Amino acid sequence: MLSSEQYHQIQHQSDKISKKLLTSKQRNNRKKCQGKKQLKEHHYATTYTPFQPSPYIPYYVNRATSTSILNSLIRAAQTSTIFTIDTESINIYKIGNKPALIQLQIIFSFNSSLVILIEIYHLPSKNNPNFPLIQELFRHVFTPGKDIFIWGTYDELIPFTTSELFTIDQIYGINYCNLQDDFKNYWKKHHPHRTPNPENDTATDDQCICENCLGHTYSHNWALQEAVARELKEYLPKVLTNEQFNIGLDPALHSHGQDEDEYAEALTQYALYDVLAMQQLITRMKNNHFTFKFRPTYRIAEDIIDLLPDDLTDENEEQILIEQQPLIVEPEQILMTQTLALTEEQRRKIHNRSCTIKQRHRSFRYELTFRNAYYRFSYRKIKSILRSKHIPFSAVNISKSYTLYVGIKHEFKDKLEEYTRITRNYFTRQHYYQVQYDRRQRTNTSNQHHQHYQNNYRRRRRTSTDLL
Ligand SMILES: [Zn+2]
Repeated sequence: MLSSEQYHQIQHQSDKISKKLLTSKQRNNRKKCQGKKQLKEHHYATTYTPFQPSPYIPYYVNRATSTSILNSLIRAAQTSTIFTIDTESINIYKIGNKPALIQLQIIFSFNSSLVILIEIYHLPSKNNPNFPLIQELFRHVFTPGKDIFIWGTYDELIPFTTSELFTIDQIYGINYCNLQDDFKNYWKKHHPHRTPNPENDTATDDQCICENCLGHTYSHNWALQEAVARELKEYLPKVLTNEQFNIGLDPALHSHGQDEDEYAEALTQYALYDVLAMQQLITRMKNNHFTFKFRPTYRIAEDIIDLLPDDLTDENEEQILIEQQPLIVEPEQILMTQTLALTEEQRRKIHNRSCTIKQRHRSFRYELTFRNAYYRFSYRKIKSILRSKHIPFSAVNISKSYTLYVGIKHEFKDKLEEYTRITRNYFTRQHYYQVQYDRRQRTNTSNQHHQHYQNNYRRRRRTSTDLL
């Protein structure tokens, strides 16, 4: 493990490097939220040994990557069935998070792996022959039958579709495991609460480490660093979270100064270690006979709705659900790998889910549906657009697969057809940019008006003073 002194040296180095690359505002923000984090970081660094990954080969994917390397990576992705994925974004002041980096790990047997860092800010142009090869790489990963581990939900992948390396539809098809959730379950199972031994209650070995005693609530999400510390007794440095992952990490892209090169190297290791740490946890959990929960993404739930007739009363709706069960099961079966037969429990779960969906559906009895709504539409924006078109809505809901439901107030149900017509092309990607464009035009025009008014005013004043 690191001594206090060594740890401070690392911290100092990271500060020195980032001072050169960050604006003073970024540095201040960093300082503000770092006090508590630093304490935790220091505790882990001085308590545990540094994180040790299994053997791996790192690759950068960007405009400097050769065609032959891309081809070998594609072949590797084709033959493997286990992947871990993580992403890094950068925070741009007043704009928010921008996708910067995808870490994709291809896991082989015997604990060896390839870790690929896909640099979103440095991709080849779309008409470069290498661009479709990177798309092909993702096609072999985001496909049913491949197991993908993510620390969290697949939602973090959605903003990355703007890179056009993969589509939202591809993400919907994946079979993924939320390792963060599974680790929580694993911890609960392996560390039930135990009452401390009163004779020995000062010894740290005897302290209960169940979720409750660790101060974790029911909805608490484990940080990867804490999971690595508690489960593997290793220190995974996190001093570089939210850093400039867009600078171009690959030395082949360009040469920075020496300090910047060190910084790029530190960011590379940080990015690699995130997925490598997931791999170590997966191995540990597997060795302790944990069964991972893989689930298809939520598109299926929406397909179930599609299969049901729309104009049903509540009573025969229930009935049809029961009668048509095999029909309801079908899409899930297709997605879960075509040969797999469903267990009784799986059937029940699907049925329950369909019922909840139908219940929600009922509260949206008179509704407008927008499939594949563009993900950048916020609830606020949607509501303000509906208001501006005088559409009397009662509720707005966006499903995980970006289907937007707008419930219409009961007393306006007769006008549903008219509202459908008005909103026919709404909430698409194109509509989003149209709205942005219109707003900019409006602001420009009003600025021009303002300018015009001011000019006139000045002119009038000048004239009046001239007259004096
Ligand atoms: Zn406890």
